[in-house]
Order: sequence, then C-alpha cells, then structure tokens
Amino acid sequence: MAKLIDGKKISAALLEKVKADVNELKSAGTEPCLAVILVGDDPASQVYVRNKKRTCEQVGIKSIEHLLPKDTSESELLSLIWSLNNDKSVHGILCQLPLPSHINEKTVLCAIDPDKDVDAFHPKNVGHIVIGDAELLPCTPAGVMEMLRYEGISVEGKNCVVVGRSNIVGKPMALMLLAANGSVTVCHSRTPDLSYHTKQADILVCAVGKKDLITADMVKDGAVVIDVSINRNEDGKLCGDVVFDEVSRKASYITPVPGGVGPMTIALLMQNTLTAARLNVIHSENDAESGDKVD
Ligand code: NAP
Repeated sequence: MAKLIDGKKISAALLEKVKADVNELKSAGTEPCLAVILVGDDPASQVYVRNKKRTCEQVGIKSIEHLLPKDTSESELLSLIWSLNNDKSVHGILCQLPLPSHINEKTVLCAIDPDKDVDAFHPKNVGHIVIGDAELLPCTPAGVMEMLRYEGISVEGKNCVVVGRSNIVGKPMALMLLAANGSVTVCHSRTPDLSYHTKQADILVCAVGKKDLITADMVKDGAVVIDVSINRNEDGKLCGDVVFDEVSRKASYITPVPGGVGPMTIALLMQNTLTAARLNVIHSENDAESGDKVD
C-alpha cells in the first residue's frame, strides 16, 4: 500500500516557515504585500481569492483585493496593473484566471512586472525556469517539487513522466524535474500510447483534468504518483485523474485529491510573495548603492 503524501501537513509546515520569515522581514522594515485582482463574479475564482486572502492573514502578509466588474475593459485592467507595478508597497501581483473573454489573458500577464509576478507566468520568468535560475516558480509544480523534497524522494536519475503540457502545470513541471536531474517524458492529448509511457515512470505526475484516466495497469510497481488534477465525480465529490483505490495498492507514494497538491499551490504563492518582497529589498539597496556612486 502506498504512503500518502499529505499536502495539508506539508503545506502547513511550509506556511509556518513562511510566517517566521515574514516576521523577520517585517522586523527589518518591510511588510510583504500581495495584490490580487479578480475580474467578474466567477464563483470558483471568488473562492480561490478568498482562500488566498485568508492564507495571507495566516502568515502575516498584507493582502489587497481589487474586485472589478465583469465588463471592466482591458485598458482599465492594464491601468490598474501599471499602477500596482509602480506602487513600491506592493510586492506581488496576481490576476485571477480565467479572465472574461473580451480581455486578452496573454497581454495582461505580460503587463505584470516580472519581479512582482508571483504566479511566474510572465515570459521573462518562464525563460528563467528554462535556464534554471528562476527566483519565482509557478506555484503548482513548485508545490509538487516541495512535496518530493519533504518526503525525501530523489528525482535524480529517475524516469519522470508528466501527463499534460499546459503552461501553468505540465511544461514548468517537466522543466523543474529536468533541473532536478530526472529523465523527463511529457505526454499530451496527441500521445498515441499513453500507457506505454506511464508504465516507464518512477515518478508519474498527472495534470490532465480527466477522471479515471490513470488506472493501476498503467502504473509501474513502486512508482511515485502525483495527481495534480481537480475533477468532480458523478456524486459531485472532488477527485483527480488517478483511480486512487487501485493505483494506491501498486504505488510506493501517492497524493490524494483533495488534500494533495491543492494546499501546496497556495502555500507556494505565499512563498513567492515573500521571495518577491525580498527581491524588492535587494533591488532597492542596489539602486541606492548605484545612486551613491553616481553622486
Ligand atoms: P489544461 O490547460 O486543460 O491542460 C490539460 C493537458 O492535458 C493538455 O496539455 C492536454 O493535451 C492534456 N490532455 C488532455 N487529454 C489528454 C489525454 N487523454 N491524455 C493525455 N493528455 C491529455 O489543464 P491545466 O491547467 O494544466 O490543469 C490540469 C488539471 O490540474 C486540471 O484538473 C486543473 O483543475 C488541475 N489544477 C490543479 C491545481 C492545483 O492546485 N492542484 C492547479 C492548477 C491546475 P493538449 O496540450 O494536447 O491539449
């Protein structure tokens, strides 16, 4: 029977650490601050934004919410982002996705100052992930890496298979596993024989969004199985891509849904906000020093 990787426990430990580091930064004169923008009244997005606010309070990060009506124009949203980019008291900016269809998501994400981009979706930050020197990492795959680290699961030399290639989860996940010296295969909707690949995986990460996609016969004995997806079954209950009951009998480690990767994502958002605030302090010190030299 697989060992359960408990995202609630691991995220709680990470949040305690973030809280201590936030206190230290506050004592040194900087209060980390996250600005969250929500356009429209999508109920799921409202829940996510509320959870982010609550977690900010828990760790002592100041949070500012900008709740905009669904008919907000793209230029109004961009103006708000530019003003937050220029506000020195704001360290992190997050624009809750999805945006209403009349707003170009890419334009908006590219408008966020890369140093304040706590989702790490800006192309500049994506480039840093590719090179392997990123300060800000996308929260969900970074949460998975933290789970592996916490459980003492080494990635080096392992066959890692990522199912799903979205910009938010699959692609950055593959890059992070590669940076940790895994041999990485990425599968997607055009992969002809998914099972062939998943059976090779020492570490299998599923991020598709299809209930019951991964069955026990697709998983190698003793594999580590990480289920990122959040789906609903016929009874309306949350579930992932993996058929948990049967796969947990074959895997060595497995994440549950809910209570697995989900809680990690928000903890990593807090970590990123702290990192962004620290970067801001370093940049301000560097600016002050270069100003001294000019004088
Ligand atoms: P997405 O943008 O819809 O991407 C899904 C990926 O799955 C695509 O790359 C797609 O391939 C691939 N795919 C679709 N059908 C497939 C199949 N039959 N076999 C293999 N690959 C297939 O989704 P996402 O944003 O990455 O999210 C994935 C899941 O993770 C969702 O359930 C989402 O709710 C969940 N999620 C959870 C968290 C968390 O905090 N736990 C955070 C983010 C997302 P193509 O590229 O070829 O279309």
